[in-house]
Amino acid sequence: MGVGEGAAKGSDSFRIVKRPSMNSGVTGVTMALVLDHADFEQLQIHRRAGCTAVVAIHSTALGPAHGGIRRSGYPDLAAAIADALRLGEAMTMKCALAEVAAGGGKAVILDHPDLDRRQAYRLVGEAVAQLGGRFFTGPDVGTTADDLREVAAVTPHVAIGDGEDDLAGATAEGVLASLRALAVRLGLADLRGLRIAVQGTGAVGGRLCALLAAAGARLLVADRDEALAARVARACGAEVVPADAIVTAACDLLAPCALGGVLDGAAVAALRCRGVCGAANNVLADEAAGLLLHRRGIPMVPDFVASAGALIVGATRNLTGRPPAPGRVAAIGETAGAILDRSRAEDRPPRQVALALAQERLAAGR
Ligand code: NAD
Repeated sequence: MGVGEGAAKGSDSFRIVKRPSMNSGVTGVTMALVLDHADFEQLQIHRRAGCTAVVAIHSTALGPAHGGIRRSGYPDLAAAIADALRLGEAMTMKCALAEVAAGGGKAVILDHPDLDRRQAYRLVGEAVAQLGGRFFTGPDVGTTADDLREVAAVTPHVAIGDGEDDLAGATAEGVLASLRALAVRLGLADLRGLRIAVQGTGAVGGRLCALLAAAGARLLVADRDEALAARVARACGAEVVPADAIVTAACDLLAPCALGGVLDGAAVAALRCRGVCGAANNVLADEAAGLLLHRRGIPMVPDFVASAGALIVGATRNLTGRPPAPGRVAAIGETAGAILDRSRAEDRPPRQVALALAQERLAAGR
């Protein structure tokens, strides 16, 4: 495949293709940046009328790539490319671990004050359309259902996320199953009576609280939006904790369901829980925090394992037109349990074990 091949109509696009056995073809200043990155299948940069978007396909070894559209004020194109590649690769791992016949990809839009948002999403839509089913996209940070309707105007390969499937509910169900697996590995028979701290009571956290309350857990909840936390607490019989105190609250299990990066070295050192499992993406600030957590003997279900419920529902819908079979999302608990067992047996952080397992599945799938 050559440079600029398959560019979205009327746009100024480059396509960079890199496979181990293939020479890369590229024009412009991006080549060095791209070639510095880990292996990936395809990277496209689309530009039109002040809009720049990057579409990265990390792997289609197990099936069509899946990944949402992130819109963010990146400092430059290099940062946007790096983010697209990182997030696309993470989606590949997530699909492999969720045993979904799909791969990883990501689209990112470089946001700026003069961005014509509608045009930007149309541009991504055209790029997705041209990929002809090789890449399915959907929501991510900075992208609303209205934005996705612009994408849907030009391609069917997009999930708007406001349809009949409760994606956040599926995510909460997968986290619940993972929390159960974690509790068992800690020698706790049941969630009943356990003190569980939930950070973030939004779409996923709020639903998770309802499920945990029904399972008989004693809940501590916090949200930056205090009114929301109070509402969820009333509905679930939970205790509200200040937002800056929830991570280090004394509890059996901590369920981060807000933003990423909350567990840095200092936070890990101050934890007073026995295990960690939540939906928030990239909870660990860095590898060192994961290592410290492991050395402290606090098992953590990797977030990209626990939070796969929405992916399972969305990808199954995309690939088959139907919802997943009953029990499919709850089976996340079995994967979580297997990773925790292997982590203990090999004395390695669960995140490293999960990534190794994903690579094994990718190799087998290929
Ligand atoms: P959301 O925006 O509905 O909820 C997040 C909540 O966290 C908000 O209410 C916000 O006020 C709160 N919050 C933010 N920072 C906080 C802090 N420091 N302390 C306490 N509360 C804080 O988002 P969501 O859809 O519930 O997703 C939650 C997390 O799970 C995100 O990291 C998301 O990327 C991840 N995730 C979500 C899904 C899904 O299906 N929605 C799937 C996979 C992963």
